Amino acid sequence: MAAVQSTTTTAPQRILMGPGPSDVDSRVLAALSAPIVGHLDPYFLGVMDEMQSMLREVFRTKNELTLAVSGTGSAGMETCVVNLIEPGDRMVVGVNGVFGTRMADVAARAGAEVTTIERPFGEVFDADEIAEVVARVKPKVVGLIHAETSTGALQPIEEISRVVHDAGALLLLDTVTSLGGVPVEIDAWNVDAVYSGTQKCLSCPPGLAPVSFSAAALEVMDARKTKVASWYLDMSMVRNYWGGKRAYHHTAPINMNYALHEALRLVLEEGLENRFDRHRQNHLALCAGLEALGIQYAVPADHRLPQLNAVVIPAGVDDAAVRKQLLGEFGIEIGGGLGPMAGKTWRIGLMGAASSNRNVLLLLAALERCLT
Ligand code: PLP
Repeated sequence: MAAVQSTTTTAPQRILMGPGPSDVDSRVLAALSAPIVGHLDPYFLGVMDEMQSMLREVFRTKNELTLAVSGTGSAGMETCVVNLIEPGDRMVVGVNGVFGTRMADVAARAGAEVTTIERPFGEVFDADEIAEVVARVKPKVVGLIHAETSTGALQPIEEISRVVHDAGALLLLDTVTSLGGVPVEIDAWNVDAVYSGTQKCLSCPPGLAPVSFSAAALEVMDARKTKVASWYLDMSMVRNYWGGKRAYHHTAPINMNYALHEALRLVLEEGLENRFDRHRQNHLALCAGLEALGIQYAVPADHRLPQLNAVVIPAGVDDAAVRKQLLGEFGIEIGGGLGPMAGKTWRIGLMGAASSNRNVLLLLAALERCLT
């Protein structure tokens, strides 16, 4: 047998400025190597309780059913969809990027009658067009992506939430890339089901999906006539483990939960408002520097994500060659475009721990070298 060349101790040290995962603080990495305990150990149950309460703070919600699903952001998406949807239910999904497309696919697989409302990649929806579609379709659920990582666009939610609820529907929101980087106001915006991921602005390795459900969502879930299509993601069972009964459901990924616990502590130590401000300031600095290099944004300024800067690759520049040079020469990862943006845009992440003045200056200097 050939000798194994790579070991985890030889993993290169990168500067993660792509669409995620983002850089992780050493305190979070240390938490991953803390002693493992059983999934019903009183110590671990205490960690879970604290995590739930920190997740409520970060989501800005009082929702009782707030926890971390074992799985990445896509598992959070499936959890929300399969728990709310029964076969034949109508669902409207906003598709203005790759992740809206994914949500529509997940909903169809769960048996929903899906109506998509579409916008070109990079644009966002307004409340009037959502009002028109919900009046026509009368859906049970409307699903939207708050921060479309494939395009760098930030979807305003407040007004849309009003029209969704006026039509008697529930609002499902993807906050995988927004949570911890820009304001996410689950109670103030009246969001019924929300999921996120750990590897973006929370700066934790990928592996868990924070979710939260409103009282209205719980009512719908408790009144289901059919079983949830996924055993693993069925909240009626998972909540008995996270809630009072502590009934075994599946073996929690213990050390991933330690890591998220530590990552949330870091977020709250910094303070949400300070964190949003840091993301905004570093975005503005990057924006000024890119403009000086003659690089344009792919998204209009009024709905740009500070943590995910989608920029147009200058004419005549070799996309893959530049990204390869950035990684090989400077250890910097940036992302290429997804879907119809492939080959046309770069996606520069300034997420969580990676959103720093140092990274902005380093990337600008490195990019200038690659482009000359
Ligand atoms: N939703 C959005 C907006 C995302 O950016 C991603 C991942 O990049 C996902 C969902 C899926 O998350 P994951 O890759 O962690 O499964």
